[in-house]
Amino acid sequence: MRVRMSGPVDDASLRRSLETAVGPENVRTDEASRRTYSTDASPCTVEPRAVAFVDSVADIRAVMDVCRALEVPITARASGTSLSGAAIGPGVILDTTRFHRILEFDPERRLVRVEPGILLAELNAYLADRGMRFAPDPGSQDLCRIGGMIGHNASGYRSVKYGQTRDHVAALKILLADGTAVDAHDVPVDGAEWREMVGRVGGLEHIRKEIADHREAIGASRRPIRKHSCGFDLLGLAESLDHGVFPLASLFVGSEGTLGVTTEATLRVVPIPAHRVTLLLYLDRFEDLGPAVGDILPRGPSAIEAVDGDTLSLLDREALDVPRTAKAMLLVEFDEGDVEEIANGVVDRVASHYRLSRAAEVASDPARQSLLWRVRRSVFPTIIQRPGARKAWGFVEDPIVPRDRVPEFIGFLVDLARRHDTVAGIYGHIGDGNTHYRPFFDPTNPDDFERMQSLREEFDQAVLDRFRGAPSGEHGIGRIRAETLPRVWGNEVYGVMRRIKDALDPRGLLNPGVLFSADPWWATWGGLESRIPM
Ligand SMILES: Cc1cc2nc3c(=O)[nH]c(=O)nc-3n(C[C@H](O)[C@H](O)[C@H](O)COP(=O)(O)OP(=O)(O)OC[C@H]3O[C@@H](n4cnc5c(N)ncnc54)[C@H](O)[C@@H]3O)c2cc1C
Repeated sequence: MRVRMSGPVDDASLRRSLETAVGPENVRTDEASRRTYSTDASPCTVEPRAVAFVDSVADIRAVMDVCRALEVPITARASGTSLSGAAIGPGVILDTTRFHRILEFDPERRLVRVEPGILLAELNAYLADRGMRFAPDPGSQDLCRIGGMIGHNASGYRSVKYGQTRDHVAALKILLADGTAVDAHDVPVDGAEWREMVGRVGGLEHIRKEIADHREAIGASRRPIRKHSCGFDLLGLAESLDHGVFPLASLFVGSEGTLGVTTEATLRVVPIPAHRVTLLLYLDRFEDLGPAVGDILPRGPSAIEAVDGDTLSLLDREALDVPRTAKAMLLVEFDEGDVEEIANGVVDRVASHYRLSRAAEVASDPARQSLLWRVRRSVFPTIIQRPGARKAWGFVEDPIVPRDRVPEFIGFLVDLARRHDTVAGIYGHIGDGNTHYRPFFDPTNPDDFERMQSLREEFDQAVLDRFRGAPSGEHGIGRIRAETLPRVWGNEVYGVMRRIKDALDPRGLLNPGVLFSADPWWATWGGLESRIPM
């Protein structure tokens, strides 16, 4: 089923208005373009009515003015690598990929000011010449753009040390649904700047009051996890407001295009580490994984990634030189201090306490390091291309649990797949407690589709109640997890999120169906038979 919602205005009038706003060469409404933009890297499909290419704030404003006047929804889009269906929508897709300049680099303050359409890889190439980098590094680092990373509060391989995108955003410029421009940074709520802001955007004071009125419930909704991409960061906002400061940029990070469109970002950058050391460890016993990780974490790794044994068996063990007996792989990296000494200490400890499938491999030079990363990086591309009708669909792919419970959690995930007559890819950022889980199913087969529904229900219940985790550590809520969002934070706190949305976008024009929707997770899965899951 291909979802297509039409607004009150007819397609021809919408196209003419957009063409007047940004020029006919920047508007596409043809079938092929609408199809192309009907998908992102999730299994969801929603066909837009038009795509508008923008390369300035004036363009964005002009497209938003049209959408507001004609009551047509608008979805900001960067590279469209969203794994949760957040970069597609039923109205106008605002393609920001041409809006990608680096505006200013301030080496003293370690800040870089950029337009949101810049590729992370392009930004990091520019920064590398200056000895710096933007720290969050998703697996999609060659593809994704800053606007999308902010939209999803992305993180990745090194979030165990460097955190999420939110931790590296100093300020944003935002255009709200009604066309108001907001300079989003930390604003003391007892000062003139706040008074001026709420004079222009009344919704902001409403949001502050909502958070204050529900402070207790927000505090009680805390889950013992290190990160999440599950809606607005109400806990962070509330804690900062306790000290009289509204961290406005933080409100928009992770909002998945539902609160406003980012038109500029000021990002904090960090120096490229002088040295890195990478360790590859294969464990013969899965039960050693938890204790080994427990031994390594206090030594301050900059990355610690795991792949479970069943998943290693989905790869070509021989080609990738994975030991036949390995039941888990651990990839560890250190980038601070005397990295060689730290690595040797870890190897001694692990080798003397756990049964390694073969001697630990340690690499200090970049070429050898990228070889050690090869197995970890191969998992996703390999499992999604596995032949057969059953594919590694992403509908439960991003859980996060307290990190000391990850081995128990992986055991649960393996068993969950087996009980639903399938196998699964299990890998991820174990140092954070963030696992990627991709069971193989064929949703066009009614029996499998039933299994998927039952697995999803059991999964949500276990992640939320038994493990006190959350369904997304980094990929976002999007369309796939919107129905689960109330269960993550509880009805009262979810109500606060909804009222924040209403305060800034009362007509629901910004990315409808994303974050807030009661639709089942599969409601927009379209054209399944022809899709390769990402
Ligand atoms: C192979 C692969 C590996 C991945 N690995 C990781 C990983 O390790 N960690 C991780 O966190 N994610 C990962 N992802 C998911 C995805 O790449 C990230 O979420 C990424 O940050 C999205 O960037 P994008 O440029 O594609 O944004 P898009 O998908 O285009 O957009 C993402 C969200 O941001 C919003 N948005 C985009 N631009 C703006 C704007 N200007 N204003 C307001 N809202 C905007 C969109 O509306 C949408 O809600 C992976 C994806 C793939 C395909």
